[in-house]
Formats: sequence, C-alpha cells, structure tokens
Amino acid sequence: MTTTKTADVEGTLAQIYALAAAGADIVRCTCNEIEAAEALAHIVPRSPVPIVADIHHQYRMALAALEAGVDCLRLNPGNIRKPAHIKAVAEACRDRGVPIRIGVNGGSLDPDLYDAHGGRVTPEAMVESARRELAFFHEVGFADVKISVKASNVPLMVEAYRMLADDPFFADEEGRSVPLHLGVTEAGPPPAGLVKATAGLATLLLEGIGDTIRYSLTADPVEEARAGRQLLEALGLRERKGLDLIACPSCGRAEVDVIEVAANAQAALESLAIPIQVAVMGCVVNGPGEAREADLGIAAGRRRGHLFVKGKVVKVVPEDEMVDELVTWAKLIADEGIEEALRHGDATAEDEAARDRAALLDDKGADANHAEERVDVIRRL
Ligand code: SF4
Repeated sequence: MTTTKTADVEGTLAQIYALAAAGADIVRCTCNEIEAAEALAHIVPRSPVPIVADIHHQYRMALAALEAGVDCLRLNPGNIRKPAHIKAVAEACRDRGVPIRIGVNGGSLDPDLYDAHGGRVTPEAMVESARRELAFFHEVGFADVKISVKASNVPLMVEAYRMLADDPFFADEEGRSVPLHLGVTEAGPPPAGLVKATAGLATLLLEGIGDTIRYSLTADPVEEARAGRQLLEALGLRERKGLDLIACPSCGRAEVDVIEVAANAQAALESLAIPIQVAVMGCVVNGPGEAREADLGIAAGRRRGHLFVKGKVVKVVPEDEMVDELVTWAKLIADEGIEEALRHGDATAEDEAARDRAALLDDKGADANHAEERVDVIRRL
C-alpha cells in the first residue's frame, strides 16, 4: 500500500513503480478525499499494476474511485454501515465489473459485533462481519469479491481465515472458497513485524489458504513488497526473479567476517535482478559442501576465497576480490548457464582448494568449535 498522499500523482506513481519493481502485483492507494479520487484518474492509466482504492467512511469516495477507473475497491464493513450505501457501491461495481475486497479489520468491527461476542474481537465476530457484508452484496446480485479478516493477533487471524475457508457460505457453487487476501494488520516495525506477519501468512499459505497477501509493516512500503515476494519465493509459490542469498551463521571455523561479506554481496548482486541462489560461507572446510545446492558461492580460507558453482570449486581468488568475482560469475551463469560456467572453471582450482582445506584442518583440527570439550563437560554433569 502506498504511503504518499494519493493527491500527489507523481509521488504516488513513483512509489507504485518502486513497489512493482520490488515484487508487488497489486497496489492499494487510499481514497479518503475527493482530491485523492481525482488523482486516481491520473494514476490508474499510468500504473504498471492494478490499483485498489481503499475506502473507509464515505461511500461516495467509493463511487468517485470507480469513476477514476480503479481496478478494485476495498471496503471496511466496520466503517460503512448503512445498508443502502453498501448496496449502492455493490451495484455500481456490478455494473462496471469491478471487484470488491471485503476488508474486515479486527480493530474496527461494527460495535454490535463486539457486543454480540462478549465485548471481544473473536474469529467468529470477524467472519460474521464478512458474512453480513456479503449478504448485502448478494441482495443486489453482486458476488465478485475477495475477503480479508485481518488482525494484529496472529493466532486470531489464522483461526478467522481457517473458519472463512471452511464456511460454505463463502463458497461458490463448486464448493471453492471466495478468494482470500491474507494479512496480519499493524504487524509493526521489522524485524519483529516481519516475524509476526510471516508467522500468520506462512501458516495459512502452507495449508493452501490464501490467494493474495500483504505485509503490513511500519517501514518503507518497498520493504513490504520485498518481504511478500521473498515469502512466496521461499514457499515455492512464486518463481524466483531475483537473488536468493544464503549465508552460513559463522562459527569457530570462520576465516572471514561472514556478516560483512554477505551484506556486501547482497548489495552488489541484488541490483542485477538475476534469479540465482548465491552462498556466502565462512570457511572452505565445510562451506562448498554445506552449500552444494547453491548455483554459486564463495567460501573463505587463508585470506583467499574459493569460488564454487554447484559445489565444485571453479576459481580461487584473493579475499578482497571475492564479491567482485561473485558478480562476474553471477552474470556468467545468467548469460550462459551453469554448465557453461563450469566449463570456464580453472583446472587447478580444485587442487588449490584441497591444499587450503588440508592446511586449515591442520591449523584448527577437526573440532574447531570445541564441541567435543562441551560434550565432555555435559557428560560429567
Ligand atoms: S563450518 Fe564453515 S561454513 Fe559451516 S558455519 Fe562454520 S564457518 Fe560457516
């Protein structure tokens, strides 16, 4: 969702483009005043992705946003409560073929729903809110909806979505649930907000529940889009379009500051937008083996880096050239593929790497993390 004033056409479009570049497929803009609706008329035709207008209290803003040509409306049933207004918006959407997201929010339910559920926000109360809204839509023959039941409490939102997905009222004639838009609302700033949102979203997605998602972070919205894309890629629900950087956590064997090298590699590779998995590993003793599934990787040892492709060492490079070499080889893999990159490998690299590994094993022994000492202590307890 954009954070600009929607009335600022150029600023809002710049943010929409940044969100789309980070992985957003749909962007929502608030339509809270007539100037925002007017701006949407300029924004929608120039947007690279469909635009959803966020409507809260004034149903006339919904009608204005439709005039502006938006692709979808989001209505909060807790904020527009007059049946005549709800039905007027649904009729207008029906006539234009524009879908509506029924966006229930645990923090802004219709007051009588709180009363009916013991003064608390419950999954049942949120589902009931969606049910009431959809019933109004059905009265005017409108069913092109998606539904969200967001809450900041993760177990609460998970339960509400499960109830929605199981409830035949929200299913079509073939028993399929209406599309569900997932979100943990007001998750807060990263990293805690990321963890909270991911807990709810990933749980549901792995159960097969959910059609679209949003991270609601107290952060630059580009972070939200990036997190959403990364989650979908991590779950195998979206083809990876960009970098997947993995790095070892570092341990007693590390020959380099893994955090720094990983950060530098991320910065250098991310902008290339190459769909590649790259590993940054702290030592050559275990690194290439631990990350053998990565397309490309670097492992540090004795002030040198062992560059490997699919676990095979292709080049040994000075430590201060590791990140530059990663960029060169990432481009090579992107242009010519893994097999061709392997053919570009240095014929002596594996032997050099083996000598470095042997020397490091001599230096630090087989138990660089002193695990056996700890085991001894544990056994004596
Ligand atoms: S053994 Fe090497 S690659 Fe594995 S965590 Fe330790 S430093 Fe990293």
